[in-house]
Amino acid sequence: MNNKEKIVAQFNIQSISFREQYLEEYFQCILCGTELVYTHDTDFIYQTVEEKAHCPHCKIESKNHSHKLQ
Ligand SMILES: [Zn+2]
Repeated sequence: MNNKEKIVAQFNIQSISFREQYLEEYFQCILCGTELVYTHDTDFIYQTVEEKAHCPHCKIESKNHSHKLQ
């Protein structure tokens, strides 16, 4: 491997169950695999909770879900 080559992404393909896959995608960044930081903002006027996932490595925000309060 010369100096210009660089591993950008490495994928380990293995058969995992749907549940494991879901949990992995939920807790880890889809780009780099870093553990996501979740924040929850509650809006009592609209009765919703905004769930946001943030990757501290990529500095991206993903998975913006809105949950209705009962
Ligand atoms: Zn990331």
